[in-house]
Amino acid sequence: MAVPRMLWGKYFQYERDGEAVLLDPVGLDSVYIDSGEVDDLAGVPPTATHEALYGLGFTPGGSTTDRRAALHDRLRLLDLYAAPVRISGLRVVLTDRCNMSCTYCFVDTNSGKPDMTKEELSQGLQFLFEQNTGQAEVSIQWFGGEPTIRFDLMQYGDQLADALADRYDVASVRRTVVTNGALLTDEALDHFVAYEYGVGISIDGPPAINSANRLLLGGQPADDRIRRNVARFVEADGLHVGCNLTPTAANIGRLAETVRWIIDDLGLKFIYVNTPIPTAGRWQVDGADLARELYEARLAALARGGMLFSVLDRAFQALDTRRPMLFDHMQGDRSLNAALLPGNQISLCDINFTEPSFLYSPNELRADPGLLAGVAKKVAPVPECEKCPALAICGGPSRNEQVLVGGSTPDPEMCTFYTSTVEIAVWDNTGVQ
Ligand code: SF4
Ligand code: SF4
Repeated sequence: MAVPRMLWGKYFQYERDGEAVLLDPVGLDSVYIDSGEVDDLAGVPPTATHEALYGLGFTPGGSTTDRRAALHDRLRLLDLYAAPVRISGLRVVLTDRCNMSCTYCFVDTNSGKPDMTKEELSQGLQFLFEQNTGQAEVSIQWFGGEPTIRFDLMQYGDQLADALADRYDVASVRRTVVTNGALLTDEALDHFVAYEYGVGISIDGPPAINSANRLLLGGQPADDRIRRNVARFVEADGLHVGCNLTPTAANIGRLAETVRWIIDDLGLKFIYVNTPIPTAGRWQVDGADLARELYEARLAALARGGMLFSVLDRAFQALDTRRPMLFDHMQGDRSLNAALLPGNQISLCDINFTEPSFLYSPNELRADPGLLAGVAKKVAPVPECEKCPALAICGGPSRNEQVLVGGSTPDPEMCTFYTSTVEIAVWDNTGVQ
């Protein structure tokens, strides 16, 4: 993708076929200008186009330096802070046992470590609800390994959660499960329906794609079994069923086709694309390709009445609302989804269960809520962020990404991905999902 040039030292000017979009990388205002206006803008000011832009707030004056400082000012003005104030959701890692063995799994599966005990689950849920006394909602996501291997703990936890919601005046409990779909009993399906679960089934695509990385422990594919179970989920009333799709070498290049198959053949209309992380110290995918593919896949989903959610939405939402979207590690109300692990530990990062600087016991977090700030990212940590159009959308690597790459310097493919998403979003006219 071409690097956009600067206008008045403040705005990025994206050009395509003689037309352009101007973007304020801090305030996130953007404006489209047609080819006549692009020519006009190159003339001696003030032309009619200059006047029109001044009227819209795009002016040559003011500070043109230190955009990083300007972003910090804007975050303060909008009351946006990097540090979470409470944990409102737990991804509960019941077991590391799994009936599959996926090549890219970020959990150390079938290690022989003990599962979560009932006592540990009770203590974790007790912590979650007491921290959210009087709140509208808490969320619980059952996770593993394959969490349905410990369906008994899910049943126990769901009953306990109802009692705790009553005791701590929490209005609603949102329950989800992430499963590979290879194992589904009638009893579990009835339970999910009774508790109105959201079910996320991890599938990467049609059998040829899925079985490239996702095989049963014995090495054989599970696609037929998963397809039958997906049909049972889809036919059940009251479940919200979606697909968790991981971009891999097998489906990158075929994401739109993969999404069509998921919607048409499996009947799953909600597709959540997992965000790449720098496993093994670096991004494993080409950032520009991924951004383009996600956009094409998004259009393919919309054309079939489906919805595709991905990190691309950050750019769309930021431009639509003119609000920075760089604090994606927590919800808009500054609450955090953390992970509850066997051994009475909570990881402040819900996808990194081993980094010691994220790990605390519930009692440690009770005693010092300030510990939550340990997951807050440093905004725009490297000089390159100053000149970056994705400044207020990416804003620098998360704490977890920093841990994985071993420092503040972002992975170049991550930067390419975010700058590519911004370029796609400034030209998009399909609207926010
Ligand atoms: S199904 Fe999930 S937990 Fe199991 S190996 Fe695959 S990615 Fe890991
Ligand atoms: S994409 Fe890279 S340069 Fe841009 S804000 Fe993010 S980390 Fe900084």
